[in-house]
Amino acid sequence: EFVIVNGEFIERSEVKIDMEDRGYQFGDGVYEVIRVYNGKMFTANEHLNRLIESGKKIKMDISYTVEEMKEMLNKLIQKNNLDLGTIYMQITRGTAPRNHVFPGDHVLPTFVANTKEAARPIENMKSGVKTILNEDIRWLLCDIKSLNLLGNLMAKQKAVEAGCFEAIQHRNGTVTEGSLSNVLIVKDGKVITHPADNLVLNGITRQKVLEICRNNGMSYEETTFTLDDLNAADEVFISGTTTEVTPVIEIEGNKVGDGTPGPITKKLQELFEKEIEKECGN
Ligand code: PMP
Repeated sequence: EFVIVNGEFIERSEVKIDMEDRGYQFGDGVYEVIRVYNGKMFTANEHLNRLIESGKKIKMDISYTVEEMKEMLNKLIQKNNLDLGTIYMQITRGTAPRNHVFPGDHVLPTFVANTKEAARPIENMKSGVKTILNEDIRWLLCDIKSLNLLGNLMAKQKAVEAGCFEAIQHRNGTVTEGSLSNVLIVKDGKVITHPADNLVLNGITRQKVLEICRNNGMSYEETTFTLDDLNAADEVFISGTTTEVTPVIEIEGNKVGDGTPGPITKKLQELFEKEIEKECGN
């Protein structure tokens, strides 16, 4: 299994990361996950642009261009013979003696990437998933895809311990997002999701779903909604790179609608499938 470390392709067992890498000690870095279908990356430009933007927001310059990163990642896909799965990549502010102060430009960032075989979440997409509600206790820069995921991990863990797939998070009664997905509701035929501000990650899948709505005459609105709106929704679904478009059929033990995936969610799944085929073939 090959991985990328700072532009080099090496065997995973050969990787040496210093114990004072700032990603390891501080979570001082950003990351992305890109889906691979048929050996091709899906929405790679969007993910890699967001990686660069996340870097800028923490004052970290990513020296690679989108094209350079795409070339490296495609080579990794080939070397590892990846057909269906994900690529994970992260960039940290490099290795320097532990100090809260940024180390300065002479310290180069550490870029690593690896691939993973991963099936599509067919069963969840078909049957839907159960969720819990959880107070969103994370920091106020959730638009940055930062390595600091403890809040997300604790939310996800709580969901799994409750026999659920995802935790729907809220701040003072306003729904923000899941632990690893965006949350969208459908009310009277309209898709509604939290605006892309500092309180949520502007998911690439979320953006794709809204683009699909735009191009297919389906109405949508990026606006905040409350727990009451969530509970009164006709349909609820989550979106994410690994989760794709997944219906939510239960929240805290209460059924969403009749407890089965709704028609608009299913329609969006169909159209999302077409987007994958368009970009990656079938
Ligand atoms: N919100 C959070 C907190 C996430 O971790 C993810 C998964 N990356 C998403 C939303 C969905 O984003 P995307 O569609 O880009 O995967």
